[in-house]
Amino acid sequence: MKAVIYGGKATIKVENLPAPKLQSDTDVIVRVKAASICGTDVRLYWGTMNDMFGFEAGDPMGHEFTGVIEDVGKAVTNFKPGQRVVSPFSTHCGNCFYCERGHVTHCENLHAFGLGKAWGGLGGGQAEYVRVPRAEKVLLKLDDRVSDEHATVLPDVLTGMFASFEGMPGGSSVAILGCGPTGLGAVMVARLLGAGEIFAIDHHEDRLAVARKLGATPINFDKEDPVDVVKSRTAGRGADIVGDAVGKIGSINQAFPLVRARGTVMMLGYIDPKENINIGAPSLAHVLIKPCLVPPIRLYQPRVMKLIADGKLDPTPMLSHTMPLSEAPQAYKMMAERLDGAIKIVLKP
Ligand SMILES: [Zn+2]
Ligand SMILES: [Zn+2]
Repeated sequence: MKAVIYGGKATIKVENLPAPKLQSDTDVIVRVKAASICGTDVRLYWGTMNDMFGFEAGDPMGHEFTGVIEDVGKAVTNFKPGQRVVSPFSTHCGNCFYCERGHVTHCENLHAFGLGKAWGGLGGGQAEYVRVPRAEKVLLKLDDRVSDEHATVLPDVLTGMFASFEGMPGGSSVAILGCGPTGLGAVMVARLLGAGEIFAIDHHEDRLAVARKLGATPINFDKEDPVDVVKSRTAGRGADIVGDAVGKIGSINQAFPLVRARGTVMMLGYIDPKENINIGAPSLAHVLIKPCLVPPIRLYQPRVMKLIADGKLDPTPMLSHTMPLSEAPQAYKMMAERLDGAIKIVLKP
């Protein structure tokens, strides 16, 4: 089968590998119909977080996939071949300390797809087939009203944003740093969950235009100071919630001047370990810093899937391109270098 493989910094290959087989009675083999490229995949492409993930040249890529069941282990009673399914980005055991408390992405027996050996070393979803362990608890039957392309936002990005913003008080002012797929997903979900004014901060005009269409107030930080704009529209206080969807050195520190006292700063993406978080002013202001990178995706997937199926959440603006899996090297380059307006790219085997 064809599979997307990391070839070292800024190198992606499509290789022919043996198709995965059932290894345990609790496994399912999924024939992949669509798999999207995540911002995390782009970081792996650049090699910026690979040590932490134990991710090396030759490792398979992709953790956001959907497909059709090809083969089912003997102990799996709730799925059968031919069914459309979607997975979270990781598998969990359902029995450990964390699973019992609903924190399934912190499972003591967690295995993630296409994210390196430190995260369990499962095969990648950017492939023709993938083996899903513990499939009974992990997979979700896909609603027929959700397309394969749209289903690829369920394993991670849009479900993650929903989990992060759920419980937000209605009317909250929200500022989002970064209008890539994560930031746009945050804007969509904040709007759906009843936010007040949403500020979308970036300097790529094409991305700001998408945020504006989604109902956000765009702020181009090359042209105006986001702190001035946000404070001028929040009675001088700052936003109730600020989300960092950039995840680069310095971005989290840019979030603090935007948030009001006793507000919340959400770390919507990965925070580089070299980041020095300037904690003085936010601690004095009792700002809550909320990690949002790996919420319990599987628990939220049914609700987000229903919102998409019912037409209440539309992933279309996040998904800029659909390309054949064989063109993965070009797709990664487009996303990594933001060529041709690429936001998030779906690969189809
Ligand atoms: Zn992802
Ligand atoms: Zn567990």
